[in-house]
Amino acid sequence: MVAIPTETVYGLAGNIYNEGAIKRIFEVKKRPLFNPLIVHVHSIEQVESITIEFPEKARKLADHFWPGAITLVLKKNEVIPDLITAGKDTVAVRIPNHPVTLDLLRILPFPLAAPSANPFNRISPTQAQHVASYFEDDVPMVLDGGPCNRGLESTIIGFKKDEPIVYRLGAISLENIEQVVGKVQVMNKKEKTPDAPGMLKKHYSPRTKTIVVDNVRQYVQQHQELQIAVLSFSDAYKSLKVKHVEILSKERDFKKAAAGLYQALHKLDDLKIDLIVAERFPMEDLGRAINDRLNRASQ
Ligand code: AMP
Ligand code: MG
Repeated sequence: MVAIPTETVYGLAGNIYNEGAIKRIFEVKKRPLFNPLIVHVHSIEQVESITIEFPEKARKLADHFWPGAITLVLKKNEVIPDLITAGKDTVAVRIPNHPVTLDLLRILPFPLAAPSANPFNRISPTQAQHVASYFEDDVPMVLDGGPCNRGLESTIIGFKKDEPIVYRLGAISLENIEQVVGKVQVMNKKEKTPDAPGMLKKHYSPRTKTIVVDNVRQYVQQHQELQIAVLSFSDAYKSLKVKHVEILSKERDFKKAAAGLYQALHKLDDLKIDLIVAERFPMEDLGRAINDRLNRASQ
Protein backbone atom coordinates (compact mmCIF):
# COMPACT_ATOMS: atom_id res chain seq x y z
CA MET A 1 0.00 0.00 0.00
CA VAL A 2 1.35 3.41 -1.04
CA ALA A 3 -0.20 6.84 -1.52
CA ILE A 4 -0.52 8.03 -5.14
CA PRO A 5 -1.40 11.38 -6.72
CA THR A 6 -4.38 11.76 -9.03
CA GLU A 7 -5.94 14.87 -10.54
CA THR A 8 -8.89 14.59 -8.10
CA VAL A 9 -7.38 13.83 -4.67
CA TYR A 10 -4.52 11.66 -3.38
CA GLY A 11 -5.34 7.95 -3.06
CA LEU A 12 -4.20 5.08 -0.84
CA ALA A 13 -3.43 2.47 -3.44
CA GLY A 14 -2.94 -1.28 -3.49
CA ASN A 15 -2.80 -4.17 -5.97
CA ILE A 16 -6.44 -5.28 -6.43
CA TYR A 17 -5.29 -8.94 -6.28
CA ASN A 18 -3.32 -8.60 -3.04
CA GLU A 19 -5.68 -9.21 -0.16
CA GLY A 20 -3.16 -8.01 2.43
CA ALA A 21 -2.66 -4.66 0.71
CA ILE A 22 -6.41 -4.09 0.30
CA LYS A 23 -7.17 -5.01 3.91
CA ARG A 24 -4.43 -2.64 5.02
CA ILE A 25 -6.08 0.22 3.09
CA PHE A 26 -9.36 -0.28 4.96
CA GLU A 27 -7.51 -0.63 8.26
CA VAL A 28 -5.32 2.48 7.89
CA LYS A 29 -8.27 4.62 6.74
CA LYS A 30 -10.61 3.11 9.35
CA ARG A 31 -13.00 2.73 6.45
CA PRO A 32 -15.97 0.39 6.95
CA LEU A 33 -15.79 -2.75 4.78
CA PHE A 34 -19.20 -2.05 3.23
CA ASN A 35 -17.70 0.97 1.46
CA PRO A 36 -16.29 -0.30 -1.87
CA LEU A 37 -13.10 1.00 -3.52
CA ILE A 38 -12.53 2.60 -6.92
CA VAL A 39 -10.28 0.60 -9.27
CA HIS A 40 -7.75 2.64 -11.26
CA VAL A 41 -6.63 1.42 -14.68
CA HIS A 42 -4.63 2.79 -17.63
CA SER A 43 -6.81 1.82 -20.60
CA ILE A 44 -10.30 0.92 -21.77
CA GLU A 45 -8.97 -2.56 -22.69
CA GLN A 46 -8.00 -3.02 -19.06
CA VAL A 47 -11.55 -2.05 -18.04
CA GLU A 48 -12.88 -4.66 -20.47
CA SER A 49 -10.68 -7.29 -18.82
CA ILE A 50 -12.43 -6.82 -15.46
CA THR A 51 -16.05 -6.16 -16.55
CA ILE A 52 -18.74 -8.00 -18.49
CA GLU A 53 -20.81 -5.10 -19.88
CA PHE A 54 -20.05 -1.67 -21.30
CA PRO A 55 -23.34 0.17 -22.04
CA GLU A 56 -23.26 2.51 -25.04
CA LYS A 57 -23.51 5.65 -22.92
CA ALA A 58 -20.76 4.41 -20.62
CA ARG A 59 -18.53 4.03 -23.66
CA LYS A 60 -19.38 7.55 -24.82
CA LEU A 61 -18.48 8.93 -21.40
CA ALA A 62 -15.26 6.91 -21.29
CA ASP A 63 -14.22 8.02 -24.79
CA HIS A 64 -14.95 11.63 -23.98
CA PHE A 65 -13.66 12.05 -20.43
CA TRP A 66 -10.94 9.43 -19.85
CA PRO A 67 -8.30 9.86 -18.66
CA GLY A 68 -10.32 12.01 -16.31
CA ALA A 69 -12.44 12.53 -13.24
CA ILE A 70 -15.39 10.29 -14.12
CA THR A 71 -15.82 6.94 -12.39
CA LEU A 72 -18.07 4.38 -14.11
CA VAL A 73 -19.81 1.66 -12.14
CA LEU A 74 -19.98 -1.42 -14.40
CA LYS A 75 -20.89 -5.11 -14.06
CA LYS A 76 -17.76 -6.87 -12.86
CA ASN A 77 -16.38 -10.25 -13.86
CA GLU A 78 -15.06 -12.93 -11.53
CA VAL A 79 -11.47 -11.67 -11.37
CA ILE A 80 -12.44 -8.77 -9.10
CA PRO A 81 -12.27 -9.79 -5.42
CA ASP A 82 -15.35 -9.18 -3.24
CA LEU A 83 -13.28 -7.13 -0.83
CA ILE A 84 -12.93 -4.41 -3.50
CA THR A 85 -16.65 -4.17 -4.27
CA ALA A 86 -18.09 -4.93 -0.82
CA GLY A 87 -19.61 -8.06 -2.33
CA LYS A 88 -21.49 -6.24 -5.08
CA ASP A 89 -21.68 -7.47 -8.68
CA THR A 90 -20.47 -4.10 -9.96
CA VAL A 91 -17.07 -2.43 -9.88
CA ALA A 92 -16.26 1.29 -9.93
CA VAL A 93 -13.45 2.08 -12.41
CA ARG A 94 -11.65 5.05 -13.87
CA ILE A 95 -8.53 6.10 -15.77
CA PRO A 96 -7.01 8.93 -13.73
CA ASN A 97 -5.50 11.92 -15.50
CA HIS A 98 -2.21 12.32 -13.70
CA PRO A 99 1.06 11.71 -15.57
CA VAL A 100 2.87 10.04 -12.65
CA THR A 101 0.05 7.66 -11.78
CA LEU A 102 -0.72 6.89 -15.43
CA ASP A 103 2.94 5.91 -15.89
CA LEU A 104 2.76 3.76 -12.79
CA LEU A 105 -0.44 2.03 -13.97
CA ARG A 106 1.13 1.31 -17.36
CA ILE A 107 4.16 -0.33 -15.74
CA LEU A 108 2.22 -2.43 -13.21
CA PRO A 109 0.75 -5.75 -14.37
CA PHE A 110 -2.37 -5.15 -12.23
CA PRO A 111 -4.92 -2.34 -11.55
CA LEU A 112 -4.78 -0.32 -8.33
CA ALA A 113 -7.68 -0.02 -5.92
CA ALA A 114 -7.52 3.39 -4.30
CA PRO A 115 -9.90 5.30 -2.06
CA SER A 116 -9.04 8.84 -1.02
CA ALA A 117 -5.99 8.99 1.27
CA ASN A 118 -7.73 10.49 4.30
CA PRO A 119 -8.86 8.87 7.53
CA PHE A 120 -12.57 8.01 7.32
CA ASN A 121 -14.72 11.18 7.57
CA ARG A 122 -11.84 13.64 7.34
CA ILE A 123 -11.07 16.21 4.62
CA SER A 124 -9.68 14.65 1.44
CA PRO A 125 -5.98 15.26 0.73
CA THR A 126 -4.99 17.37 -2.26
CA GLN A 127 -1.26 17.55 -1.52
CA ALA A 128 1.33 14.93 -0.61
CA GLN A 129 1.91 16.76 2.68
CA HIS A 130 -1.75 16.27 3.72
CA VAL A 131 -1.34 12.50 3.39
CA ALA A 132 1.97 12.44 5.24
CA SER A 133 0.59 14.38 8.19
CA TYR A 134 -2.61 12.29 8.39
CA PHE A 135 -0.86 8.92 8.49
CA GLU A 136 2.82 9.47 9.37
CA ASP A 137 4.49 6.03 9.60
CA ASP A 138 1.33 4.06 8.78
CA VAL A 139 1.78 4.87 5.09
CA PRO A 140 5.29 3.84 4.07
CA MET A 141 5.43 5.95 0.91
CA VAL A 142 3.69 8.93 -0.64
CA LEU A 143 4.36 9.40 -4.33
CA ASP A 144 4.50 13.19 -4.61
CA GLY A 145 2.80 14.42 -7.78
CA GLY A 146 2.26 18.01 -6.67
CA PRO A 147 -1.09 19.58 -5.79
CA CYS A 148 -4.15 17.89 -7.37
CA ASN A 149 -5.41 20.16 -10.12
CA ARG A 150 -9.08 19.13 -9.91
CA GLY A 151 -9.08 18.99 -6.13
CA LEU A 152 -12.49 17.30 -5.84
CA GLU A 153 -13.39 13.59 -5.98
CA SER A 154 -14.50 12.07 -9.28
CA THR A 155 -18.11 12.13 -10.46
CA ILE A 156 -19.47 8.58 -10.03
CA ILE A 157 -21.93 7.28 -12.63
CA GLY A 158 -23.80 3.99 -12.57
CA PHE A 159 -26.26 2.51 -15.06
CA LYS A 160 -29.83 1.27 -14.78
CA LYS A 161 -31.14 -0.44 -17.92
CA ASP A 162 -28.12 1.15 -19.63
CA GLU A 163 -29.19 4.68 -18.62
CA PRO A 164 -26.69 6.74 -16.58
CA ILE A 165 -27.39 7.72 -12.97
CA VAL A 166 -25.06 10.04 -11.08
CA TYR A 167 -24.27 8.45 -7.70
CA ARG A 168 -21.88 11.12 -6.54
CA LEU A 169 -21.43 14.67 -7.87
CA GLY A 170 -17.79 15.47 -8.45
CA ALA A 171 -15.06 17.11 -10.46
CA ILE A 172 -16.84 16.79 -13.84
CA SER A 173 -20.00 18.90 -13.89
CA LEU A 174 -23.49 17.65 -14.73
CA GLU A 175 -23.62 20.17 -17.58
CA ASN A 176 -20.47 18.66 -19.15
CA ILE A 177 -21.82 15.13 -18.76
CA GLU A 178 -25.18 16.03 -20.30
CA GLN A 179 -23.44 17.56 -23.32
CA VAL A 180 -22.10 14.08 -24.06
CA VAL A 181 -24.98 11.70 -23.20
CA GLY A 182 -28.05 13.94 -22.83
CA LYS A 183 -30.17 14.28 -19.68
CA VAL A 184 -29.01 12.15 -16.74
CA GLN A 185 -30.67 11.27 -13.48
CA VAL A 186 -28.99 12.33 -10.23
CA MET A 187 -29.52 10.07 -7.28
CA ASN A 188 -31.46 11.67 -4.51
CA LYS A 189 -29.27 12.02 -1.43
CA LYS A 190 -32.02 10.93 0.94
CA GLU A 191 -32.75 7.81 -1.04
CA LYS A 192 -31.10 4.85 0.67
CA THR A 193 -30.06 2.50 -2.04
CA PRO A 194 -27.71 -0.43 -2.19
CA ASP A 195 -26.55 0.81 -5.62
CA ALA A 196 -24.52 3.60 -4.05
CA PRO A 197 -23.06 2.22 -0.88
CA GLY A 198 -20.92 4.31 1.36
CA MET A 199 -22.37 7.67 0.34
CA LEU A 200 -22.57 8.76 3.93
CA LYS A 201 -24.18 12.00 4.93
CA LYS A 202 -21.32 13.04 7.15
CA HIS A 203 -18.05 13.03 5.24
CA TYR A 204 -15.13 15.22 4.30
CA SER A 205 -15.28 16.99 7.66
CA PRO A 206 -12.96 19.47 9.33
CA ARG A 207 -12.74 19.08 13.11
CA THR A 208 -13.81 22.70 13.48
CA LYS A 209 -17.59 23.10 13.46
CA THR A 210 -18.62 24.19 9.97
CA ILE A 211 -21.86 25.67 8.67
CA VAL A 212 -23.06 26.67 5.20
CA VAL A 213 -25.09 29.86 4.83
CA ASP A 214 -26.55 32.01 2.07
CA ASN A 215 -25.89 35.31 3.79
CA VAL A 216 -22.42 35.33 5.38
CA ARG A 217 -22.50 38.98 6.44
CA GLN A 218 -25.78 38.61 8.30
CA TYR A 219 -24.76 35.36 10.00
CA VAL A 220 -21.44 36.74 11.22
CA GLN A 221 -23.05 39.94 12.52
CA GLN A 222 -25.49 37.86 14.56
CA HIS A 223 -22.65 35.76 16.07
CA GLN A 224 -20.11 38.36 17.13
CA GLU A 225 -19.23 36.36 20.26
CA LEU A 226 -17.59 33.60 18.16
CA GLN A 227 -14.13 33.40 16.58
CA ILE A 228 -15.09 32.84 12.95
CA ALA A 229 -13.27 32.18 9.69
CA VAL A 230 -15.15 32.63 6.43
CA LEU A 231 -14.84 30.43 3.35
CA SER A 232 -15.94 32.66 0.49
CA PHE A 233 -16.49 32.08 -3.22
CA SER A 234 -15.29 35.53 -4.42
CA ASP A 235 -16.21 38.26 -1.91
CA ALA A 236 -13.47 39.61 0.40
CA TYR A 237 -16.12 40.54 3.01
CA LYS A 238 -14.24 43.74 3.82
CA SER A 239 -15.05 45.36 7.19
CA LEU A 240 -16.53 42.13 8.54
CA LYS A 241 -15.11 41.30 11.99
CA VAL A 242 -13.72 37.80 11.52
CA LYS A 243 -10.43 36.03 12.11
CA HIS A 244 -9.85 35.24 8.45
CA VAL A 245 -11.55 35.25 5.04
CA GLU A 246 -10.40 32.60 2.57
CA ILE A 247 -11.45 33.43 -1.00
CA LEU A 248 -11.70 30.50 -3.41
CA SER A 249 -11.82 32.46 -6.67
CA LYS A 250 -11.97 36.24 -7.07
CA GLU A 251 -13.02 35.71 -10.72
CA ARG A 252 -15.84 33.33 -9.68
CA ASP A 253 -14.22 30.50 -11.62
CA PHE A 254 -15.86 27.25 -10.48
CA LYS A 255 -12.90 25.09 -11.52
CA LYS A 256 -10.49 27.18 -9.52
CA ALA A 257 -12.82 27.20 -6.52
CA ALA A 258 -13.14 23.39 -6.62
CA ALA A 259 -9.38 22.95 -6.96
CA GLY A 260 -8.75 25.05 -3.85
CA LEU A 261 -11.66 23.85 -1.69
CA TYR A 262 -10.01 21.12 0.41
CA GLN A 263 -6.74 23.02 0.67
CA ALA A 264 -8.76 25.94 2.11
CA LEU A 265 -10.64 23.69 4.55
CA HIS A 266 -7.34 22.15 5.74
CA LYS A 267 -5.99 25.67 6.31
CA LEU A 268 -9.07 26.99 8.13
CA ASP A 269 -9.22 23.87 10.26
CA ASP A 270 -5.71 24.65 11.54
CA LEU A 271 -6.65 28.16 12.72
CA LYS A 272 -8.06 27.00 16.07
CA ILE A 273 -11.24 29.01 15.81
CA ASP A 274 -14.83 28.31 16.94
CA LEU A 275 -16.55 28.13 13.60
CA ILE A 276 -16.02 27.99 9.84
CA VAL A 277 -18.79 29.82 7.99
CA ALA A 278 -18.91 28.70 4.37
CA GLU A 279 -20.81 30.61 1.71
CA ARG A 280 -23.26 28.49 -0.26
CA PHE A 281 -22.38 28.27 -3.98
CA PRO A 282 -24.79 28.84 -6.87
CA MET A 283 -26.39 25.48 -7.81
CA GLU A 284 -24.81 25.29 -11.24
CA ASP A 285 -21.65 23.90 -12.82
CA LEU A 286 -19.22 22.64 -10.11
CA GLY A 287 -21.16 24.70 -7.54
CA ARG A 288 -23.40 21.64 -7.13
CA ALA A 289 -20.52 19.34 -6.12
CA ILE A 290 -18.93 22.02 -3.95
CA ASN A 291 -22.23 22.52 -2.07
CA ASP A 292 -22.54 18.75 -1.67
CA ARG A 293 -19.12 18.61 0.03
CA LEU A 294 -19.81 21.71 2.15
CA ASN A 295 -23.11 20.21 3.31
CA ARG A 296 -21.38 16.99 4.32
CA ALA A 297 -18.63 18.94 6.09
CA SER A 298 -21.30 20.69 8.10
CA GLN A 299 -23.13 17.59 9.36
P1 AMP B 1 -13.47 7.27 -2.40
O1 AMP B 1 -12.56 6.39 -3.17
O2 AMP B 1 -13.11 7.46 -0.98
O3 AMP B 1 -13.69 8.57 -3.11
O4 AMP B 1 -14.87 6.53 -2.39
C1 AMP B 1 -15.26 5.74 -3.45
C2 AMP B 1 -16.74 5.75 -3.58
O5 AMP B 1 -17.07 5.00 -4.74
C3 AMP B 1 -17.45 5.09 -2.42
O6 AMP B 1 -18.01 6.03 -1.57
C4 AMP B 1 -18.52 4.23 -3.07
O7 AMP B 1 -19.79 4.70 -2.72
C5 AMP B 1 -18.33 4.39 -4.57
N1 AMP B 1 -18.31 3.05 -5.17
C6 AMP B 1 -17.27 2.22 -5.26
N2 AMP B 1 -17.62 1.05 -5.82
C7 AMP B 1 -18.94 1.14 -6.10
C8 AMP B 1 -19.89 0.26 -6.69
N3 AMP B 1 -19.57 -0.97 -7.09
N4 AMP B 1 -21.15 0.71 -6.80
C9 AMP B 1 -21.47 1.95 -6.42
N5 AMP B 1 -20.64 2.82 -5.84
C10 AMP B 1 -19.37 2.44 -5.69
MG1 MG C 1 -13.21 9.37 0.19
